[in-house]
Amino acid sequence: MAEHESTPAGEYDVAVVGGGATGCATAYYAAKRGARVVLLDRQDLNTEASGRNAGSLHGQIQHEPFLHLGEEWARSWLPALDLLRGSLELWDGLSAELGVDLEVKKKGGLLVADHPDQLADIERKVALERSIGIESRMLTRDEVHALAPWASDAIVGGELCPIEGKANPLVTGPSFARAAVRHGAAVRGGVGVQAITPDGGGYVLTTTDGDVRARKVVVATGDAMREFGRRLGVNLPVTSEAVQVSVTERVEPLVEHLVYYAGGKLTFKQSSTGTLLIGGGWPARRDENGAWVMNPDSLRENLRIAVRVAPVVGGVKLLRTWVGVGNGTPDQRPVLGELPHHPGLFVGIYPYMGFTASPLMGRTLAELALGETPALDLAPFDPMRFADAA
Ligand SMILES: Cc1cc2nc3c(=O)[nH]c(=O)nc-3n(C[C@H](O)[C@H](O)[C@H](O)COP(=O)(O)OP(=O)(O)OC[C@H]3O[C@@H](n4cnc5c(N)ncnc54)[C@H](O)[C@@H]3O)c2cc1C
Repeated sequence: MAEHESTPAGEYDVAVVGGGATGCATAYYAAKRGARVVLLDRQDLNTEASGRNAGSLHGQIQHEPFLHLGEEWARSWLPALDLLRGSLELWDGLSAELGVDLEVKKKGGLLVADHPDQLADIERKVALERSIGIESRMLTRDEVHALAPWASDAIVGGELCPIEGKANPLVTGPSFARAAVRHGAAVRGGVGVQAITPDGGGYVLTTTDGDVRARKVVVATGDAMREFGRRLGVNLPVTSEAVQVSVTERVEPLVEHLVYYAGGKLTFKQSSTGTLLIGGGWPARRDENGAWVMNPDSLRENLRIAVRVAPVVGGVKLLRTWVGVGNGTPDQRPVLGELPHHPGLFVGIYPYMGFTASPLMGRTLAELALGETPALDLAPFDPMRFADAA
């Protein structure tokens, strides 16, 4: 990959700022359609959230926000779920398309309950998912135990969401970027974008390595999106939440599904190498220098829940816990579209589950940048919807 060559001079059709999964996917889909593309990241590619996430491919309404924000919120969030569903369809053919095994396995997601009261909430959630054609279904106690022999005897039932799964986040972004290079894109790590200024019909990007000109610009800067919004004069209230994920030693094949728990924060699955990945959005903490580090209280609670759901985890050695900064939006819907006062400049961030969403986010951003009309209705994701709250 031409990551450290200097940027070829001249004007690009599309400049993509941010080399996480979203930006790499955007560069790929735009270059594949014949556009002259440059992808810029201030660091190496895939070193922020896209290289630190847990690799879950989500396709259900997350149970915790459903409980806390309620059914009305969940209904308003369905367009964002539909985006995940569309992205999950793209994941199916992605390894073949990019020529790399992305370790995509979609055996479904299991949300398990250990109290009968939890089942009524799950049932309401399943009905909403089914309302947009996702074939989630309730599982009896026996059905859960047949699918998940590792589950605690206390599990009384749950949900199966058949479209969910997992993939390898370490290879996904870079594989999109390499495929973009094969289609002629220039990909540059270590180049920070400091300003984006209108110039004629396009933009000049002031970077740490000189100016880059492009007719269209896609900003996919993840955690830096709020700051980019400020610079561009639009309120993009993207929140930052440092969370942690743990990995165990390798064990024999045990868990096929992506597992969640209705009584607390948990995601739990087995990678293709046999390690167990345990997370669920547990917060990290800051050290005395202000750096994000592992929070032992979160780790204890996360593991306590994992063992409660799957007692076998209690006998497995933990190898490592790492921290990454994830991003949210106030309504948990993505920000995806053109900034009206900056024609030809598009922004894209999918909160909390942006790894799952990255293929379709990237394809949609590429379509927008190339002047095509995406199949998705983007109105619920309008970047200007927070303007009045500024
Ligand atoms: C611990 C953790 C676990 C998670 N687990 C899951 C999961 O299991 N499943 C799931 O779907 N999602 C998960 N997520 C969320 C997911 O990782 C993110 O939503 C997704 O990776 C965001 O991708 P992105 O490309 O939009 O942003 P990022 O990956 O943050 O990429 C943004 C890039 O922009 C670059 N950048 C910023 N400013 C500039 C600038 N000025 N100039 C040039 N480049 C710039 C950064 O260097 C960075 O590389 C998790 C997140 C975390 C932190």
